[in-house]
Amino acid sequence: MTEHKYQAYNARNFREITQLADWPASALREIETVARVLPFKTNNYVVDELIDWDQIPGDPMYTLNFPRRELLRAAHWQRLSRAVTRGLPEHDLKSLVRAIQLELNPDPSSQSANVPLLNGHRVSGAQHKYRETVLFFPQAGQSCHAFCTFCFRWPQFVGFSQSRFSGKDSQTMAEYLKIHPRVTDLLITGGDPMTMRAGVLETCLTPFLGKDLAHLRTIRIGTKSLSYWPYRYLSDPDSDDLLRLFDRVVKSGRNLSIMAHFNHPVELSTEAVRKAIIRLRGTGAQIRTQSPLLHHINDKPELWAEMWRQQVDLNCIPYYMFVERDTGAKHFFALPLERCWQIFRQAYQRVSGLGRTVKGPVMSATPGKVEILGVTELNDEKVFMLRFIQGRNADWVDRPFFALYDRTATWLNGLKPAFGEHDFFFEKELKGMLTARMQPMG
Ligand SMILES: *Cc1c(COP(=O)(O)O)cnc(C)c1O
Ligand code: SF4
Repeated sequence: MTEHKYQAYNARNFREITQLADWPASALREIETVARVLPFKTNNYVVDELIDWDQIPGDPMYTLNFPRRELLRAAHWQRLSRAVTRGLPEHDLKSLVRAIQLELNPDPSSQSANVPLLNGHRVSGAQHKYRETVLFFPQAGQSCHAFCTFCFRWPQFVGFSQSRFSGKDSQTMAEYLKIHPRVTDLLITGGDPMTMRAGVLETCLTPFLGKDLAHLRTIRIGTKSLSYWPYRYLSDPDSDDLLRLFDRVVKSGRNLSIMAHFNHPVELSTEAVRKAIIRLRGTGAQIRTQSPLLHHINDKPELWAEMWRQQVDLNCIPYYMFVERDTGAKHFFALPLERCWQIFRQAYQRVSGLGRTVKGPVMSATPGKVEILGVTELNDEKVFMLRFIQGRNADWVDRPFFALYDRTATWLNGLKPAFGEHDFFFEKELKGMLTARMQPMG
Protein backbone atom coordinates (compact mmCIF):
# COMPACT_ATOMS: atom_id res chain seq x y z
CA MET A 1 0.00 0.00 0.00
CA THR A 2 1.28 3.48 -0.75
CA GLU A 3 2.56 5.36 2.25
CA HIS A 4 0.25 7.92 3.78
CA LYS A 5 2.15 10.96 4.91
CA TYR A 6 1.46 11.80 8.51
CA GLN A 7 0.68 15.42 9.24
CA ALA A 8 0.15 16.42 12.85
CA TYR A 9 -1.66 19.65 13.68
CA ASN A 10 -1.45 21.49 16.98
CA ALA A 11 -1.99 24.98 18.39
CA ARG A 12 1.02 26.30 16.46
CA ASN A 13 0.18 25.08 12.94
CA PHE A 14 -3.57 24.34 12.87
CA ARG A 15 -4.17 27.45 10.78
CA GLU A 16 -2.69 25.46 7.86
CA ILE A 17 -5.71 23.13 7.86
CA THR A 18 -7.34 23.97 4.55
CA GLN A 19 -10.86 23.40 5.89
CA LEU A 20 -10.26 26.35 8.26
CA ALA A 21 -9.07 28.70 5.53
CA ASP A 22 -12.15 30.96 5.51
CA TRP A 23 -12.80 30.91 9.25
CA PRO A 24 -13.01 34.28 11.03
CA ALA A 25 -10.00 35.28 13.11
CA SER A 26 -12.08 35.22 16.30
CA ALA A 27 -12.94 31.53 15.82
CA LEU A 28 -9.30 30.62 15.28
CA ARG A 29 -8.30 32.67 18.32
CA GLU A 30 -10.87 30.79 20.40
CA ILE A 31 -9.26 27.45 19.50
CA GLU A 32 -5.83 28.85 20.29
CA THR A 33 -6.93 30.30 23.63
CA VAL A 34 -8.62 27.14 24.90
CA ALA A 35 -5.59 25.14 23.71
CA ARG A 36 -3.47 27.03 26.23
CA VAL A 37 -5.30 25.16 28.99
CA LEU A 38 -6.31 21.84 27.44
CA PRO A 39 -4.02 19.97 25.06
CA PHE A 40 -4.77 20.16 21.33
CA LYS A 41 -3.43 17.88 18.67
CA THR A 42 -4.99 16.27 15.62
CA ASN A 43 -3.88 14.94 12.24
CA ASN A 44 -4.68 14.82 8.56
CA TYR A 45 -6.55 11.48 8.73
CA VAL A 46 -8.95 12.83 11.37
CA VAL A 47 -9.36 16.12 9.51
CA ASP A 48 -9.82 14.64 6.03
CA GLU A 49 -11.50 11.27 6.68
CA LEU A 50 -13.42 11.48 9.96
CA ILE A 51 -14.71 15.02 10.41
CA ASP A 52 -17.77 16.00 8.39
CA TRP A 53 -17.01 19.69 7.83
CA ASP A 54 -20.60 20.37 6.73
CA GLN A 55 -21.72 19.56 10.28
CA ILE A 56 -19.52 21.98 12.21
CA PRO A 57 -19.70 22.71 15.12
CA GLY A 58 -21.99 19.74 15.95
CA ASP A 59 -19.88 17.08 14.24
CA PRO A 60 -18.78 14.52 16.86
CA MET A 61 -15.28 14.04 15.48
CA TYR A 62 -14.76 17.78 15.34
CA THR A 63 -15.95 18.07 18.93
CA LEU A 64 -13.65 15.24 19.93
CA ASN A 65 -10.58 16.91 18.45
CA PHE A 66 -10.92 20.67 18.42
CA PRO A 67 -10.93 22.91 21.50
CA ARG A 68 -13.90 25.23 21.96
CA ARG A 69 -14.76 27.76 24.65
CA GLU A 70 -17.46 25.53 26.19
CA LEU A 71 -14.75 23.10 27.27
CA LEU A 72 -13.78 25.67 29.88
CA ARG A 73 -16.12 26.74 32.63
CA ALA A 74 -17.61 30.15 31.82
CA ALA A 75 -15.60 31.93 34.53
CA HIS A 76 -12.32 30.38 33.34
CA TRP A 77 -13.02 31.25 29.72
CA GLN A 78 -13.82 34.85 30.66
CA ARG A 79 -10.69 35.31 32.73
CA LEU A 80 -8.49 33.77 30.08
CA SER A 81 -9.98 35.40 26.99
CA ARG A 82 -9.90 38.80 28.72
CA ALA A 83 -6.25 38.29 29.61
CA VAL A 84 -5.43 37.37 26.00
CA THR A 85 -7.36 40.33 24.57
CA ARG A 86 -5.72 42.75 27.00
CA GLY A 87 -2.33 41.45 25.88
CA LEU A 88 -1.18 40.20 29.27
CA PRO A 89 2.58 39.42 29.18
CA GLU A 90 3.31 35.78 28.30
CA HIS A 91 4.72 35.04 31.74
CA ASP A 92 1.53 36.20 33.52
CA LEU A 93 -0.62 34.40 30.99
CA LYS A 94 1.26 31.19 31.76
CA SER A 95 0.59 31.57 35.49
CA LEU A 96 -3.08 32.16 34.83
CA VAL A 97 -3.23 29.06 32.61
CA ARG A 98 -1.51 26.99 35.34
CA ALA A 99 -3.95 28.24 37.94
CA ILE A 100 -6.91 27.25 35.78
CA GLN A 101 -5.41 23.83 35.06
CA LEU A 102 -4.98 23.21 38.78
CA GLU A 103 -8.69 23.87 39.27
CA LEU A 104 -9.54 21.10 36.79
CA ASN A 105 -8.71 18.19 39.11
CA PRO A 106 -5.51 17.03 37.42
CA ASP A 107 -5.11 13.87 39.57
CA PRO A 108 -8.53 12.18 39.55
CA SER A 109 -9.07 8.87 41.34
CA SER A 110 -5.78 9.30 43.23
CA GLN A 111 -3.86 7.57 40.47
CA SER A 112 -0.57 8.51 42.05
CA ALA A 113 -1.46 6.15 44.93
CA ASN A 114 -1.10 3.09 42.68
CA VAL A 115 2.62 3.14 41.93
CA PRO A 116 4.11 -0.15 43.14
CA LEU A 117 7.41 -0.75 44.96
CA LEU A 118 10.26 -3.11 44.09
CA ASN A 119 12.96 -3.54 46.76
CA GLY A 120 11.69 -0.36 48.38
CA HIS A 121 11.90 1.73 45.19
CA ARG A 122 8.95 3.00 43.17
CA VAL A 123 8.61 1.18 39.86
CA SER A 124 8.30 4.23 37.69
CA GLY A 125 5.77 4.00 34.90
CA ALA A 126 3.76 1.26 36.58
CA GLN A 127 0.39 1.16 38.32
CA HIS A 128 -0.75 -1.89 40.22
CA LYS A 129 -4.24 -1.40 41.54
CA TYR A 130 -5.97 -4.74 40.88
CA ARG A 131 -4.35 -8.03 41.76
CA GLU A 132 -4.32 -9.66 38.32
CA THR A 133 -3.46 -6.70 36.11
CA VAL A 134 -0.55 -4.27 36.07
CA LEU A 135 -0.47 -1.15 33.94
CA PHE A 136 2.77 -0.11 32.28
CA PHE A 137 3.35 3.32 30.75
CA PRO A 138 6.47 3.08 28.59
CA GLN A 139 8.11 6.48 28.32
CA ALA A 140 8.33 6.43 24.53
CA GLY A 141 4.56 5.93 24.27
CA GLN A 142 3.33 8.91 26.23
CA SER A 143 1.85 10.81 23.32
CA CYS A 144 -1.08 10.17 20.99
CA HIS A 145 -1.87 10.53 17.30
CA ALA A 146 -4.42 13.13 18.29
CA PHE A 147 -5.70 14.30 21.65
CA CYS A 148 -9.30 13.74 22.68
CA THR A 149 -10.86 16.80 24.24
CA PHE A 150 -12.42 14.73 27.06
CA CYS A 151 -9.27 12.78 27.92
CA PHE A 152 -8.42 12.24 31.58
CA ARG A 153 -4.76 12.07 30.62
CA TRP A 154 -4.73 15.76 29.68
CA PRO A 155 -2.44 16.66 32.65
CA GLN A 156 0.42 14.57 31.27
CA PHE A 157 0.06 16.18 27.83
CA VAL A 158 0.44 19.63 29.34
CA GLY A 159 3.46 18.61 31.39
CA PHE A 160 2.04 17.89 34.86
CA SER A 161 2.64 14.23 35.47
CA GLN A 162 4.74 12.91 32.62
CA SER A 163 7.72 12.01 34.76
CA ARG A 164 5.63 10.46 37.48
CA PHE A 165 3.84 8.07 35.17
CA SER A 166 6.29 6.95 32.55
CA GLY A 167 8.75 4.10 32.71
CA LYS A 168 12.09 4.04 30.94
CA ASP A 169 12.68 0.48 31.50
CA SER A 170 10.57 -2.61 30.99
CA GLN A 171 13.34 -4.74 32.54
CA THR A 172 12.45 -3.37 35.99
CA MET A 173 8.80 -3.97 35.22
CA ALA A 174 9.60 -7.59 34.31
CA GLU A 175 11.53 -8.03 37.59
CA TYR A 176 8.49 -6.78 39.45
CA LEU A 177 6.22 -9.19 37.57
CA LYS A 178 8.53 -12.13 38.35
CA ILE A 179 7.89 -11.79 42.06
CA HIS A 180 4.14 -11.26 41.59
CA PRO A 181 2.91 -14.63 40.33
CA ARG A 182 -0.74 -13.68 40.62
CA VAL A 183 -0.41 -11.05 37.90
CA THR A 184 -1.74 -12.56 34.69
CA ASP A 185 -2.24 -9.41 32.62
CA LEU A 186 0.07 -6.61 31.60
CA LEU A 187 -1.67 -3.62 30.09
CA ILE A 188 0.65 -1.38 28.08
CA THR A 189 -0.80 2.05 27.97
CA GLY A 190 0.07 5.72 27.56
CA GLY A 191 -0.69 8.13 25.94
CA ASP A 192 -0.84 5.69 23.12
CA PRO A 193 1.83 2.96 22.93
CA MET A 194 1.18 2.63 19.20
CA THR A 195 2.87 5.97 18.64
CA MET A 196 6.11 4.07 19.32
CA ARG A 197 8.20 2.84 16.43
CA ALA A 198 8.01 -0.96 16.00
CA GLY A 199 11.64 -1.36 17.13
CA VAL A 200 11.04 0.62 20.32
CA LEU A 201 7.89 -1.34 21.08
CA GLU A 202 9.80 -4.56 20.50
CA THR A 203 12.44 -3.56 23.06
CA CYS A 204 9.64 -2.70 25.42
CA LEU A 205 7.77 -6.00 24.99
CA THR A 206 10.64 -8.49 24.74
CA PRO A 207 11.31 -8.79 28.52
CA PHE A 208 7.71 -9.97 28.98
CA LEU A 209 7.73 -12.74 26.38
CA GLY A 210 10.11 -15.22 28.01
CA LYS A 211 9.37 -18.56 29.67
CA ASP A 212 10.49 -17.10 33.00
CA LEU A 213 7.26 -15.09 33.05
CA ALA A 214 4.98 -18.03 32.37
CA HIS A 215 2.29 -16.70 34.71
CA LEU A 216 1.90 -13.61 32.51
CA ARG A 217 -0.84 -14.84 30.18
CA THR A 218 -2.01 -11.69 28.46
CA ILE A 219 -0.44 -8.62 26.96
CA ARG A 220 -2.91 -5.85 26.37
CA ILE A 221 -2.15 -2.70 24.43
CA GLY A 222 -4.47 0.24 24.91
CA THR A 223 -4.67 2.35 21.77
CA LYS A 224 -6.68 4.79 19.72
CA SER A 225 -4.51 4.26 16.65
CA LEU A 226 -7.16 2.25 14.76
CA SER A 227 -9.44 5.21 15.00
CA TYR A 228 -6.93 8.05 14.58
CA TRP A 229 -4.25 6.57 12.32
CA PRO A 230 -5.15 3.13 10.91
CA TYR A 231 -2.26 3.47 8.47
CA ARG A 232 -0.14 2.47 11.48
CA TYR A 233 -1.00 -1.12 10.49
CA LEU A 234 -1.07 -0.65 6.72
CA SER A 235 1.44 1.68 5.18
CA ASP A 236 3.76 3.25 7.75
CA PRO A 237 7.42 2.43 7.03
CA ASP A 238 7.44 -0.03 9.96
CA SER A 239 3.91 -1.45 9.65
CA ASP A 240 5.15 -4.88 8.59
CA ASP A 241 7.67 -4.98 11.46
CA LEU A 242 4.87 -4.14 13.84
CA LEU A 243 2.69 -6.98 12.62
CA ARG A 244 5.64 -9.38 12.84
CA LEU A 245 6.12 -8.28 16.43
CA PHE A 246 2.47 -9.05 17.17
CA ASP A 247 2.92 -12.47 15.55
CA ARG A 248 5.82 -13.01 17.92
CA VAL A 249 3.75 -12.11 20.98
CA VAL A 250 1.00 -14.51 19.92
CA LYS A 251 3.57 -17.25 19.19
CA SER A 252 4.89 -16.86 22.74
CA GLY A 253 1.62 -18.53 23.71
CA ARG A 254 0.02 -15.42 25.13
CA ASN A 255 -3.17 -13.63 24.42
CA LEU A 256 -2.51 -10.33 22.70
CA SER A 257 -5.45 -8.03 23.26
CA ILE A 258 -5.60 -4.72 21.48
CA MET A 259 -7.80 -2.53 23.69
CA ALA A 260 -9.10 -0.30 20.94
CA HIS A 261 -10.70 2.95 21.73
CA PHE A 262 -13.69 3.91 19.52
CA ASN A 263 -16.05 6.71 20.52
CA HIS A 264 -18.38 6.81 17.54
CA PRO A 265 -19.42 4.51 14.66
CA VAL A 266 -17.93 6.89 12.09
CA GLU A 267 -14.49 5.81 13.31
CA LEU A 268 -15.28 2.29 12.03
CA SER A 269 -16.49 3.47 8.64
CA THR A 270 -13.37 4.11 6.57
CA GLU A 271 -11.73 1.62 4.27
CA ALA A 272 -8.45 2.14 6.11
CA VAL A 273 -9.75 1.18 9.57
CA ARG A 274 -11.48 -1.91 8.20
CA LYS A 275 -8.33 -3.06 6.44
CA ALA A 276 -6.27 -2.34 9.54
CA ILE A 277 -8.58 -4.46 11.71
CA ILE A 278 -8.30 -7.37 9.26
CA ARG A 279 -4.50 -7.14 9.21
CA LEU A 280 -4.30 -6.96 12.99
CA ARG A 281 -6.63 -9.92 13.42
CA GLY A 282 -4.43 -11.81 10.97
CA THR A 283 -1.67 -11.87 13.56
CA GLY A 284 -3.92 -13.73 15.99
CA ALA A 285 -4.41 -10.63 18.12
CA GLN A 286 -7.86 -10.03 19.58
CA ILE A 287 -9.39 -6.59 19.48
CA ARG A 288 -11.56 -5.46 22.38
CA THR A 289 -13.24 -2.09 22.30
CA GLN A 290 -13.99 0.58 24.86
CA SER A 291 -15.16 4.15 25.13
CA PRO A 292 -16.55 6.61 27.60
CA LEU A 293 -20.11 7.80 27.22
CA LEU A 294 -19.88 11.45 26.24
CA HIS A 295 -22.41 14.22 26.00
CA HIS A 296 -22.11 15.91 22.54
CA ILE A 297 -20.28 12.87 21.10
CA ASN A 298 -22.13 9.61 21.61
CA ASP A 299 -25.05 10.20 24.02
CA LYS A 300 -27.60 8.21 22.00
CA PRO A 301 -28.36 4.51 22.44
CA GLU A 302 -28.66 3.99 18.66
CA LEU A 303 -25.07 5.09 18.20
CA TRP A 304 -23.80 2.58 20.75
CA ALA A 305 -25.93 -0.25 19.36
CA GLU A 306 -24.61 0.58 15.90
CA MET A 307 -21.04 0.73 17.14
CA TRP A 308 -21.26 -2.61 18.97
CA ARG A 309 -22.94 -4.30 15.99
CA GLN A 310 -20.28 -3.06 13.60
CA GLN A 311 -17.56 -4.13 16.00
CA VAL A 312 -19.00 -7.65 16.14
CA ASP A 313 -19.22 -7.65 12.31
CA LEU A 314 -15.53 -6.76 12.24
CA ASN A 315 -14.63 -9.49 14.77
CA CYS A 316 -13.98 -7.04 17.59
CA ILE A 317 -15.28 -7.69 21.10
CA PRO A 318 -17.19 -4.87 22.85
CA TYR A 319 -15.67 -4.57 26.33
CA TYR A 320 -16.32 -1.39 28.33
CA MET A 321 -18.63 1.61 28.33
CA PHE A 322 -17.11 4.08 30.78
CA VAL A 323 -18.59 7.03 32.62
CA GLU A 324 -16.63 10.20 31.86
CA ARG A 325 -14.10 10.91 34.62
CA ASP A 326 -14.16 13.83 37.01
CA THR A 327 -11.39 15.88 35.46
CA GLY A 328 -10.62 18.44 32.75
CA ALA A 329 -13.62 19.37 30.62
CA LYS A 330 -15.90 17.00 32.57
CA HIS A 331 -18.74 19.55 32.80
CA PHE A 332 -19.05 19.59 28.98
CA PHE A 333 -19.04 15.81 28.46
CA ALA A 334 -20.67 14.50 31.65
CA LEU A 335 -24.12 12.93 31.82
CA PRO A 336 -26.07 12.10 34.99
CA LEU A 337 -25.49 8.50 36.08
CA GLU A 338 -29.11 7.59 35.56
CA ARG A 339 -28.94 8.84 31.97
CA CYS A 340 -25.77 6.78 31.44
CA TRP A 341 -27.58 3.68 32.63
CA GLN A 342 -30.60 4.42 30.41
CA ILE A 343 -28.41 4.86 27.34
CA PHE A 344 -26.51 1.69 28.17
CA ARG A 345 -29.57 -0.49 28.64
CA GLN A 346 -31.37 0.88 25.58
CA ALA A 347 -28.30 0.11 23.49
CA TYR A 348 -27.75 -3.27 25.14
CA GLN A 349 -31.34 -4.25 24.38
CA ARG A 350 -30.75 -3.59 20.69
CA VAL A 351 -27.88 -6.01 20.11
CA SER A 352 -27.66 -9.78 20.13
CA GLY A 353 -25.82 -11.69 22.82
CA LEU A 354 -22.55 -11.36 20.91
CA GLY A 355 -22.64 -7.61 21.47
CA ARG A 356 -23.47 -8.05 25.16
CA THR A 357 -19.92 -8.84 26.10
CA VAL A 358 -19.80 -5.16 26.96
CA LYS A 359 -19.80 -4.04 30.61
CA GLY A 360 -21.14 -0.72 31.69
CA PRO A 361 -21.69 1.97 32.49
CA VAL A 362 -18.50 1.77 34.56
CA MET A 363 -16.85 4.39 36.76
CA SER A 364 -13.13 3.80 37.05
CA ALA A 365 -12.95 5.38 40.49
CA THR A 366 -10.61 5.43 43.49
CA PRO A 367 -11.91 2.21 45.13
CA GLY A 368 -12.28 0.32 41.84
CA LYS A 369 -14.33 -0.11 38.72
CA VAL A 370 -17.93 0.41 39.76
CA GLU A 371 -20.71 -0.69 37.45
CA ILE A 372 -24.16 0.91 37.57
CA LEU A 373 -26.59 -1.99 37.55
CA GLY A 374 -29.65 0.21 37.55
CA VAL A 375 -32.11 2.42 39.36
CA THR A 376 -34.79 0.66 41.40
CA GLU A 377 -36.94 0.92 44.52
CA LEU A 378 -36.30 -1.04 47.68
CA ASN A 379 -38.04 -0.50 51.05
CA ASP A 380 -39.78 2.54 49.53
CA GLU A 381 -36.43 4.12 48.80
CA LYS A 382 -35.31 4.98 45.26
CA VAL A 383 -31.75 3.69 44.88
CA PHE A 384 -28.91 3.02 42.52
CA MET A 385 -27.80 -0.59 42.51
CA LEU A 386 -24.05 -0.86 41.98
CA ARG A 387 -21.28 -3.44 42.02
CA PHE A 388 -17.52 -3.55 41.71
CA ILE A 389 -16.18 -5.28 38.65
CA GLN A 390 -12.67 -4.52 39.92
CA GLY A 391 -11.75 -3.54 43.45
CA ARG A 392 -8.64 -2.44 45.28
CA ASN A 393 -9.61 -5.37 47.47
CA ALA A 394 -10.61 -8.26 45.20
CA ASP A 395 -13.14 -9.35 47.81
CA TRP A 396 -15.29 -6.28 47.10
CA VAL A 397 -15.97 -7.53 43.58
CA ASP A 398 -19.51 -8.54 42.62
CA ARG A 399 -21.24 -7.63 45.89
CA PRO A 400 -24.33 -5.59 45.10
CA PHE A 401 -24.48 -2.32 47.04
CA PHE A 402 -26.88 0.59 47.09
CA ALA A 403 -26.70 4.35 46.89
CA LEU A 404 -29.44 6.90 47.41
CA TYR A 405 -30.93 7.91 44.10
CA ASP A 406 -29.60 11.24 42.95
CA ARG A 407 -30.93 12.81 39.78
CA THR A 408 -27.87 14.92 39.06
CA ALA A 409 -24.92 12.84 40.31
CA THR A 410 -22.31 12.21 37.62
CA TRP A 411 -19.71 10.27 39.63
CA LEU A 412 -19.34 7.92 42.56
CA ASN A 413 -18.22 10.69 44.91
CA GLY A 414 -21.58 12.39 44.33
CA LEU A 415 -23.45 9.38 45.76
CA LYS A 416 -24.46 8.63 49.36
CA PRO A 417 -25.20 5.22 50.85
CA ALA A 418 -28.85 4.17 50.86
CA PHE A 419 -30.96 2.97 53.83
CA GLY A 420 -29.57 5.52 56.27
CA GLU A 421 -26.11 3.99 56.36
CA HIS A 422 -23.21 6.26 57.12
CA ASP A 423 -20.57 4.74 54.82
CA PHE A 424 -20.41 2.43 51.82
CA PHE A 425 -19.22 -1.02 52.87
CA PHE A 426 -15.73 -0.50 51.44
CA GLU A 427 -15.02 3.02 52.63
CA LYS A 428 -13.26 2.41 55.91
CA GLU A 429 -10.93 -0.15 54.39
CA LEU A 430 -10.28 2.12 51.41
CA LYS A 431 -9.24 4.99 53.68
CA GLY A 432 -6.78 2.71 55.42
CA MET A 433 -5.37 1.56 52.08
CA LEU A 434 -4.88 5.07 50.78
CA THR A 435 -3.18 6.18 53.98
CA ALA A 436 -0.87 3.20 54.00
CA ARG A 437 -0.45 3.36 50.21
CA MET A 438 -0.97 -0.36 50.46
CA GLN A 439 -0.48 -2.42 47.31
CA PRO A 440 -2.72 -5.27 46.19
CA MET A 441 -1.69 -8.68 47.42
CA GLY A 442 0.78 -10.37 45.08
C1 LIG B 1 -9.47 -1.09 34.11
C2 LIG B 1 -8.20 -1.26 34.80
C3 LIG B 1 -7.51 -2.48 34.75
C4 LIG B 1 -8.05 -3.66 33.96
O1 LIG B 1 -9.22 -4.21 34.51
P1 LIG B 1 -9.95 -5.39 33.77
O2 LIG B 1 -11.25 -5.56 34.50
O3 LIG B 1 -9.07 -6.59 33.87
O4 LIG B 1 -10.15 -4.97 32.36
C5 LIG B 1 -6.35 -2.58 35.44
N1 LIG B 1 -5.83 -1.55 36.17
C6 LIG B 1 -6.48 -0.37 36.25
C7 LIG B 1 -5.89 0.72 37.10
C8 LIG B 1 -7.67 -0.18 35.58
O5 LIG B 1 -8.30 1.00 35.65
S1 SF4 C 1 -6.05 8.77 22.32
FE1 SF4 C 1 -6.57 7.99 24.39
S2 SF4 C 1 -4.92 8.73 25.72
FE2 SF4 C 1 -4.82 9.91 23.79
S3 SF4 C 1 -6.02 11.73 24.14
FE3 SF4 C 1 -7.43 10.23 23.27
S4 SF4 C 1 -8.36 9.18 25.04
FE4 SF4 C 1 -6.54 10.26 25.75
